[in-house]
Amino acid sequence: METQSVISFDNTEFAFEYKSDKELKKARFLFSSMSQPWLVKLGTRFTPWAIKSHLPVKGIIRKTIFEQFVGGETLEQTAIVAKKLSEYKVQVILDYGVEGGDDGEKGFDHSTEEFIRVIKYAATQPNIPFMSIKVTGFARFSLLEKLDDMMHKGTGTLMKRYLKAIDDLPDDEKEEWHRVRRRMMYICETAAEKNVGVLVDAEETWIQDPVDALTILMMDAFNKHRTVVYNTIQLYRHDRLKFLKDSHEAAAERNFILGAKIVRGAYMEKERKRAEEKNYSSPIQPDKESTDRDYNAGLTFCIENIDRIAVIVASHNEYSNLLATQLLQQENLPLDHPHVHFSQLYGMSDNITFNLAHAGCSVSKYLPFGPIDDVIPYLMRRAQENTSVKGQTGRELSLIKKELKRRHQ
Ligand SMILES: Cc1cc2nc3c(=O)[nH]c(=O)nc-3n(C[C@H](O)[C@H](O)[C@H](O)COP(=O)(O)OP(=O)(O)OC[C@H]3O[C@@H](n4cnc5c(N)ncnc54)[C@H](O)[C@@H]3O)c2cc1C
Repeated sequence: METQSVISFDNTEFAFEYKSDKELKKARFLFSSMSQPWLVKLGTRFTPWAIKSHLPVKGIIRKTIFEQFVGGETLEQTAIVAKKLSEYKVQVILDYGVEGGDDGEKGFDHSTEEFIRVIKYAATQPNIPFMSIKVTGFARFSLLEKLDDMMHKGTGTLMKRYLKAIDDLPDDEKEEWHRVRRRMMYICETAAEKNVGVLVDAEETWIQDPVDALTILMMDAFNKHRTVVYNTIQLYRHDRLKFLKDSHEAAAERNFILGAKIVRGAYMEKERKRAEEKNYSSPIQPDKESTDRDYNAGLTFCIENIDRIAVIVASHNEYSNLLATQLLQQENLPLDHPHVHFSQLYGMSDNITFNLAHAGCSVSKYLPFGPIDDVIPYLMRRAQENTSVKGQTGRELSLIKKELKRRHQ
């Protein structure tokens, strides 16, 4: 592509302005530890077990990995982090970290109320335009899995297969699904009323079809004049570039704005393992290059269709983030176009976030919060990602070291 790049992600002074020396040194220690695969392997096996067995490990988790990647245990604690980020023109996506909980109906209602509390809080803050939800926070995982399986056996469009699957459920599960839909509706209605965007996270492929169908129905209901609801598209799946294009076609036909948070995808090892164990062909791309190709093609498609698509570039990949800014410039669109937002996870890739903010982009940190027990799966994914993603830890470490050196020259 022939455009000049105006943004550089190398400025560590901007990147870590919000961190004290002490905080930076702690981050250096954590990323050094995570660069040891044996330690991460041990930690990710031991920690969930230790928590379940009520061993006294919460103190050390709180002071290390939790502090690096999570805003706090409560909304009130998290508000302090959000406020600090706002001083650097960095926005926040609040993520109440409950996932895959099979707490029964009471637990699901409780999570829904928490999501509502988050929306209401976000509405009072100038720098929290979005919050995220996981459908597994308020729906039984095995029901989602069953629906997904039934949809796979059906024929026709996603929506046709969805409606048929619901129809074929026994009465008690039909009723259960109605409750899931009501919870989703309640969340989206409140978000629309309070003018807060709702990002629906993507999880495992074997529950994704009903999540997609439900999210598209919400977009159809709430995204007529502005974007309230966003689906997540995982481009490490080899079928998702087509899905993105199909979703765009559906949005054009039914006249709604497609909200698309585009990610590469966080469950690669789990997906491949399950496909192998159950003997079906893996839904994941054959290699990283294919994931990158589809991610960048998806991003380009979104910006080419920016009138109809509101895109969230959710990535730590420097090339993809730069590409987004270059495409905007090429199309003569402003870097803070209302349909383009950038986001990185809290605790990672500050060099991208803070330099994008400096350049005038609309950018946020995805900031999870919740009791330690609830955010453990999220933390384990971060630990794994920071060893398994080639170069990510190395990059974080070298940036931190560079900044510490700059400060003490
Ligand atoms: C704001 C935000 C929200 C997110 N929300 C979600 C979500 O809802 N659901 C979700 O699943 N993830 C989510 N993620 C995580 C995301 O999917 C990635 O795991 C993470 O961001 C790393 O990818 P990357 O684009 O940053 O870049 P990179 O570091 O360039 O890419 C790493 C990614 O490439 C892919 N990859 C690596 N090796 C291979 C290989 N051999 N073959 C094929 N593909 C490969 C994997 O997806 C891996 O995570 C989110 C990330 C952010 C920043």
